[in-house]
Amino acid sequence: MNVVRQREVDYEMVEAKVPKIVVVGSLNMDIVVEAERAPVQGETILGERAHVIPGGKGANQAVAAARLEAETIMLGSVGKDDFGNQLIQSLQKEGINIDHLQTSSTHSTGIASILLSEHDNRIIVVPGANHQFKIDDEDVFRSVIASADLCLFQLEIPLSTVIRAVEIAKEENTEVILNPAPAQKLPDSLLQQIDYITPNQTELALLTNREKVDESDLFSAMEQLLTMGPKHVITTLGKDGVAYLTKNQVGKRISSHPVNVLDTTGAGDAFNAALAVAIAEGQEIDHAIRFANRVSALAVTKLGAQSGMPNRKEVDDFQ
Ligand code: ATP
Repeated sequence: MNVVRQREVDYEMVEAKVPKIVVVGSLNMDIVVEAERAPVQGETILGERAHVIPGGKGANQAVAAARLEAETIMLGSVGKDDFGNQLIQSLQKEGINIDHLQTSSTHSTGIASILLSEHDNRIIVVPGANHQFKIDDEDVFRSVIASADLCLFQLEIPLSTVIRAVEIAKEENTEVILNPAPAQKLPDSLLQQIDYITPNQTELALLTNREKVDESDLFSAMEQLLTMGPKHVITTLGKDGVAYLTKNQVGKRISSHPVNVLDTTGAGDAFNAALAVAIAEGQEIDHAIRFANRVSALAVTKLGAQSGMPNRKEVDDFQ
């Protein structure tokens, strides 16, 4: 049975199917310490606040997709420890399917140690179980991916796992979005299988062997990345919005929404999840990018990555 619901898309009521998204990626516990400044070498200072909150690009994107009412499945790995249990529970609370999540008995749950100070953010990530994530049972993995409208990947798990999972997705005709973060070089064989790639400017520069990309060479860098294989290149530009390029079409720029910014952590995750949901719903690429631009603008008005992800009603009400 096709699940449908009424949905407002660009001022028209349309019947949209409930999209099914598989997120293949990382889960971390973020240990966030707020202090006036970072300590210098050998110094101990007092901080102001500490928070222990679920994070990881994969889990952030899964939460964002679920809040936008997609049927969401998370594939990844946590440790057999308290943090792992807490991360599993937090995904379950969001209605995310965790049936195929792996638990590592040799490695602990991934941890991001984040020092937030007024002028400086310092982050150390210990990937732990995320780096143990492998396709253990290919038949199960294949059937999960084949059942989805779209698979969403980032790069906080082993590249070999991303490469094999993308191959499986393409064999099963499931569309693929790759959010190439954190920045790293990627083989052409992988890029050639990607339907939508969503670098920020730093990631675009690295992928195209440039020191940096600015306004003057933005579209030439995107053109270069397009020739390397992906069907669509969508570059997120923070407060400057988004740039978009597809084969045989003129590049487009979309401005960001003017909002009161509270916390930009997870803006990229909100954008990628929303893009995935909109594409899986069958929205045209231009509409899908505009939808993602709205969702991520809302996300930056709230504190926290996962806690800041807006729900569908907030997005529909925000024009
Ligand atoms: P992060 O790694 O912090 O999650 P990112 O570098 O992957 O972020 P950005 O390009 O900073 O991603 O932001 C993604 C999208 O979020 C932007 O394309 C834009 O749509 C939205 N966005 C980010 N910052 C702002 C802002 N200050 N105002 C409005 N929208 C914003």
